[in-house]
Amino acid sequence: MTKKEQRIRKIKKGRFWGGFAVLLVVTVIECVILGLTLQMAWDLVLKENFTNEYERINTIANCYENGISDAEMERILGDEKRIYFVKDQKGKLLHATGEDTMSDEWGEIVLDTFLEINEEAINEIKNVGDKVQVEADIHRTDGDASGLDLDLDIDDDLYNVRSRFMRIHTDREIPVFRSRNGGVEFDFPALAKWVSDVRFFEDEEYYRGNKILELPFWIECELGEGILYGKGFYKMRYADMAMMVGLLAVIGALLAITFLILIFSMISVIRRQRKANAVFFMDEVTGGRNWVWFLLKVGQFLRKRRNDRYNFAIADLVFVNYRNFCMCHSVAEGEELLTKLDVTIRRLLNRRKEACAHYASDHFALLLHYETQEELKKRLEELITTLEQIDKEHNFSFHLGVNPLPAKLENGRTVRRKKIDIDEQYNNASTACMTLTDTEGSAIAYFDEKLIEEQKWLDRVQEAQKGALENEEFLVYYQPKYNPVTGQLTGAEALIRWESPKYGFLSPGRFIPIFEKNGFITEIDHYMIRHVARDQKRWIDAGMNCVPVSVNVSRAHFIEHDLADQIRDMVDAEGAPHNLIELELTESAFFDDKKAIIHTIGKLKEYGFAVSMDDFGSGYSSLNSLKDMPLDVLKLDAEFFRGENAGERGEIVVKEAIRLAKALHMKTVAEGIEAREQVDFLAEQGCDMIQGYIFAHPMPGDKYEMAMKNGTPLEGDETQK
Ligand code: C2E
Ligand code: MG
Ligand code: MG
Repeated sequence: MTKKEQRIRKIKKGRFWGGFAVLLVVTVIECVILGLTLQMAWDLVLKENFTNEYERINTIANCYENGISDAEMERILGDEKRIYFVKDQKGKLLHATGEDTMSDEWGEIVLDTFLEINEEAINEIKNVGDKVQVEADIHRTDGDASGLDLDLDIDDDLYNVRSRFMRIHTDREIPVFRSRNGGVEFDFPALAKWVSDVRFFEDEEYYRGNKILELPFWIECELGEGILYGKGFYKMRYADMAMMVGLLAVIGALLAITFLILIFSMISVIRRQRKANAVFFMDEVTGGRNWVWFLLKVGQFLRKRRNDRYNFAIADLVFVNYRNFCMCHSVAEGEELLTKLDVTIRRLLNRRKEACAHYASDHFALLLHYETQEELKKRLEELITTLEQIDKEHNFSFHLGVNPLPAKLENGRTVRRKKIDIDEQYNNASTACMTLTDTEGSAIAYFDEKLIEEQKWLDRVQEAQKGALENEEFLVYYQPKYNPVTGQLTGAEALIRWESPKYGFLSPGRFIPIFEKNGFITEIDHYMIRHVARDQKRWIDAGMNCVPVSVNVSRAHFIEHDLADQIRDMVDAEGAPHNLIELELTESAFFDDKKAIIHTIGKLKEYGFAVSMDDFGSGYSSLNSLKDMPLDVLKLDAEFFRGENAGERGEIVVKEAIRLAKALHMKTVAEGIEAREQVDFLAEQGCDMIQGYIFAHPMPGDKYEMAMKNGTPLEGDETQK
């Protein structure tokens, strides 16, 4: 996952879990406080009652062991009528007062007590087995201490008097109560059940005017010769019970309210979160998904399907006519169209593994899932066809840059999908799309690594161009043109070269197309015209036989209405005669604003410059342009003399083109001539000039000076640049 993705996820999560966590903590704290309160209340009401009863039965046990009679016992116990009986270890009844109502089910409460025997008592102990009456404090672990007379059997381990334990037993099922770590603890569910059985006990008494309930239970006390079972009563006042029930109800209600608040807040947090997410991931223009969503979703898909044998591709879809449409209609209508596109694209995708989002302006980002390249291609073509028909009144076109995500690394290892940087991959798709900028109509371009190299080169060239011009790194090379019959030098073409200290010697193919796109070509053309004029002037001054030199003028230049004046001023500034400068326009330039071109050509001719049509026959030749443009020279494109074009049919076309040029009073130059037979054929057809490697390669100025002096092609021309 990229850092960006992590950041987005954090924002998304943080909003939800932050609020929820605070709420949860508050709820837990509240529950703990309520729980503690409840326990304190239980302890207060129940614990004391149990321990009191235990002490009473324990006293009876001590009395019994000391041989105190029933009558005496009654005296000790006051009006309490305690029922108890004694059984020996085998269960034989030894003594009984009242009825045995014990059931076989036993519960247990362990009340940890220990005896602290004072030193005086210890001194009275003589032998093991002595019966000694000592006064001892019973310390209960709940901190309550009460004095009690006890008879103790002294056993081996005097100081380790065992904990006593009490067993309680009622006629009903009794819960198991245990105490741990010295404290008295109640088994709440069992105790609650016991208390809920209240209705079975009928003994009701009044205690200080309060109606009380008595719940009977049995307590077991170990004696030396057996076990004494005494009946205890858990006395509960109705008032206490009402308080307990009230307290329980309040606590229950509080807990329920807290719980409800928690649930409601969770629901509302989730709802708010959903709304916030919807806004966070919504594209404000289309109302669909935005780029942030795309980043997250695509990341999720790729991680989830990291072992999927199918492939993924990221695409950049450009709605070519968007800006124009907005200009002619309105931005609102344009955005409506974008929304329609967004909906249509999403309908055509499989939402479980593909995604689409509006990136910005006229761009959409797509993630596509596919098995074979052919299948992907077919789907994309269908997608474009569907989008083209989105509006019946307009002919819309779309450019699609597709970047199939790499499955293997250069070293042959499989790419880990979760590591893929989506931003970078989308950028690659956009790079592929950019190659379609000049393409008319809809088109699809696929990304490959070469494009990155090209892009890098483009960047470097753009970075270096200004400095290169200032440092005069651009050189003017001259390629002579010769008469095919006489072999005499009749002209030359100035061709640029870049001697870059950083990138070496570069031919125009490496940088001219870049300059044409970024507009720097205008500066270059000016630079060339100035240098050629300067050279011509220098050569004239040196008394050389100068011939016209043609300079390429970019199509981009022709939109400038004062181009002819600019050229005239530049040439004049260098002091060169106009008739020694010819301007070459590429054929495609003639399809631009015709009126403006005719105007510029007219002016150039008026100033005495010759104008030629370069690369005639290379593209969309328009004989019509020949008719309308008052041109001086027609340069037949090298393609006429290459490959299939070079055959018999090609010769017919060349022958007719030359004838046509002548009829229109234009001179002809054949470009790219490399073979003797071609020269002979062209000579026969009356072609005026030959520009080709057969005679000369483009050469630096000093060498061209030699060619000028020579007048005919130089022997062994090695200038292969
Ligand atoms: P172009 O104006 O059509 O120039 C003719 C191209 O054909 C030159 O390539 C030249 O070296 C090449 N050539 C000439 N004879 C032969 C031959 O026999 N065989 C082969 N294979 N090629 C031959 P170069 O110099 O590489 O220039 C390429 C293009 O770059 C030019 O085509 C022109 O469009 C452009 N260019 C060159 N210099 C300039 C310039 O200063 N300004 C502008 N705007 N464009 C220029
Ligand atoms: Mg040219
Ligand atoms: Mg040419």
